[in-house]
Amino acid sequence: MNKVSCLIIGSGPAGYTAAIYAARANMHPLLIDGPQQGGQLTTTTEVENFPGYPEGVDPFTMMDDMRRQAERFGTQFLSGIVTKVEFSPSLEGRVGERSPHRVWVDDAVEPILADTVIIATGASAKYLGLESERTFRGRGVSACATCDGFFYRKKTVAVVGGGDTACEEANYLAGLCEKVYLIVRKPYLRASQIMQDRVLNNPKIEVLFEHNTLRLTGEDKVQGADLVFRKGEPDEQIRHIAIDGFFLAIGHHPNTDLFKDYVARDAEGYILTRDGSPQCYQPVTGNPSPVTPLPGIFAAGDCADPHYRQAIVAAASGCKAAIEADRYLKSL
Ligand code: NDP
Repeated sequence: MNKVSCLIIGSGPAGYTAAIYAARANMHPLLIDGPQQGGQLTTTTEVENFPGYPEGVDPFTMMDDMRRQAERFGTQFLSGIVTKVEFSPSLEGRVGERSPHRVWVDDAVEPILADTVIIATGASAKYLGLESERTFRGRGVSACATCDGFFYRKKTVAVVGGGDTACEEANYLAGLCEKVYLIVRKPYLRASQIMQDRVLNNPKIEVLFEHNTLRLTGEDKVQGADLVFRKGEPDEQIRHIAIDGFFLAIGHHPNTDLFKDYVARDAEGYILTRDGSPQCYQPVTGNPSPVTPLPGIFAAGDCADPHYRQAIVAAASGCKAAIEADRYLKSL
């Protein structure tokens, strides 16, 4: 059976930073990549706000640099997806065994045994939940402009959302496409001022405030969308727009369902940690404020952060998780 001192699940800024610190603390970490090597950041165009890159940096380059830095200090990597976990709520009954936590990768028969686990599984894009959106997924519907924008050169697309992601994606697509609609359900954008200004000053972007998407239309791929303006108001109107692509940018869902039986989470699924510590807690039914720590289990990055969701914050929390994992191991 494969035994490790420190198992890190996830390869975003949190996971890689945890790996750098854990490796330098001689914990010989094993990092499991997950479905998207490099994490969510690799779905963005350019990172302009990570300190140390005054000219901005391509996210693939940045994540590759982090990975190589983790590798340099001895991190082992495993490509695969964690399909099951069993976290031990206590060390009792396992004296001398340590490694109480079990993690299965790609439905393997044998689990990996780990003394400590750092959960850095990030978050995934949300969809509206329309049936037509499911029908056209991969045929005009996308949640990643950077990945798929190329296919819509000189075409017309729509982006849904009013946050930073939506504005960033709309701007990116405007660089490729003939026209971009930004569909915003409120009468204002929620994005930071600089991103709002870029969208509102871009002649290729038309912002449709107070619009919701009713359905996507088309034969075997997206060709249009039916929108409703000011739903429920006396001046409600249905409007059709002709589009070739429909991009979702309406927020994210934390990738934590796998851990729900072992780790306390909030109502949206974000892992509950407290007072800036990466320590995870045991879930208590009906109790939003758990008190019993789960020994050796730590969370870092967007899977535990509904508020900031920034690469720099994720990286910092990965650092904290590795330091706490090291302290925990030394305390045993
Ligand atoms: P946000 O949660 O900030 O924004 C989500 C947007 O989607 C909101 O405008 C919301 O509308 C809208 N929305 C949600 N659900 C629906 C729905 N069902 N139908 C229509 N619209 C919907 O998410 P982001 O991904 O934009 O940003 C997350 C965090 O990451 C933020 O803190 C952001 O600042 C940060 N970020 C920073 C970047 C940077 O600095 N370069 C780049 C990208 C993100 P409503 O406003 O009505 O709730």
